[in-house]
Amino acid sequence: MTARLLDGTKIRDAVFADLRHEIAQLGAEGVRPGLAAVLVGENPASQLYVKSKIAACEQIGLASWLYTPPATVTTDELLGLVVRLNKDDAVDGILVQLPLPSQVDTKRILEAVDPAKDVDGFHPVNLGKLVSGRPGLVACTPAGCMEILSRGDVQIEGANAVVLGRSDIVGKPMALLLMHANATVTICHSKTRDLAEVVRRADIVVAAMGKAGYLAADWIRPGAAVIDVGTNKVTDPAEAERLLKNFPARLEKFRAKGSVLVGDVHPDGVNVAGALTPVPGGVGPMTITMLMSNTVKAARLRRGATSVSKDTRAVNSATGAR
Ligand code: NAP
Repeated sequence: MTARLLDGTKIRDAVFADLRHEIAQLGAEGVRPGLAAVLVGENPASQLYVKSKIAACEQIGLASWLYTPPATVTTDELLGLVVRLNKDDAVDGILVQLPLPSQVDTKRILEAVDPAKDVDGFHPVNLGKLVSGRPGLVACTPAGCMEILSRGDVQIEGANAVVLGRSDIVGKPMALLLMHANATVTICHSKTRDLAEVVRRADIVVAAMGKAGYLAADWIRPGAAVIDVGTNKVTDPAEAERLLKNFPARLEKFRAKGSVLVGDVHPDGVNVAGALTPVPGGVGPMTITMLMSNTVKAARLRRGATSVSKDTRAVNSATGAR
């Protein structure tokens, strides 16, 4: 059996089409949702991420603003910028690209962001809303996983779901979203005993550990839906050989390039799972997608909207928002 691929790029395109429509509707009401991105210093990876986020805004018709304080910025200076953006009514979403330089108190900065504009969904107020199933902004990666499950027609209600990882930005919100969507959820972490046995009971597996190919194919219940959040760059030839021995074309690419991106699920999992997100091209594209979706959602929620578009249907039903 070969798994049905849950293609994140196709799902992104479908969500973007819905968002364009919703942005046009908001435009007719005189509202243009906008995202302010704060990029501190000159970290090349952060520059690349922020560039992609601004490009996505342009692609779907959101307003965007880029602020680039120097790497020497102080906590107080950055707090001043966040406060300004909080007060600016044209700004619906504020994104502070992480990591921040070591002299900056990251927690203070993230907690200074108005929860109504916290499109990364990191603010404790939004986490609290998620816990209690109230409308709020949900962290983008787990929200994207829910969107994949929903648009990929994976039955969540009543399913046994196993989440590997308990980080604040992926594992915990993921488990809450699945629970609100009426799955029976087990959360695993580095101290979990008999991990393979726990995973074997799952109808839905979400792997977010950061360990290349750790989840072996024979841990997967045949037919299960597998969401692979891990994005691990493998550069060791022996590891690449071990992971990709049944995928000669990918191995060939590794040899030419010297690296390959592998998820937390062993690539052989594709022969056991019923549905699976590829790496790359599965969860990856959904994170920016949900940032765009959160910005539109924030624009509506800030204006007291009683409904949000169907693009956020999985997350909204999971959090009780309508
Ligand atoms: P994280 O903060 O490092 O958390 C990793 C979690 O995995 C921890 O809870 C840890 O358990 C658990 N874990 C580690 N080794 C384990 C093991 N052997 N067995 C069971 N659990 C284990 O990572 P994260 O930020 O959640 O990210 C996880 C992965 O997702 C990373 O590969 C990251 O690159 C990727 N990611 C991808 C996207 C995307 O857009 N595709 C977005 C975000 C993250 P303990 O709590 O016990 O330490």
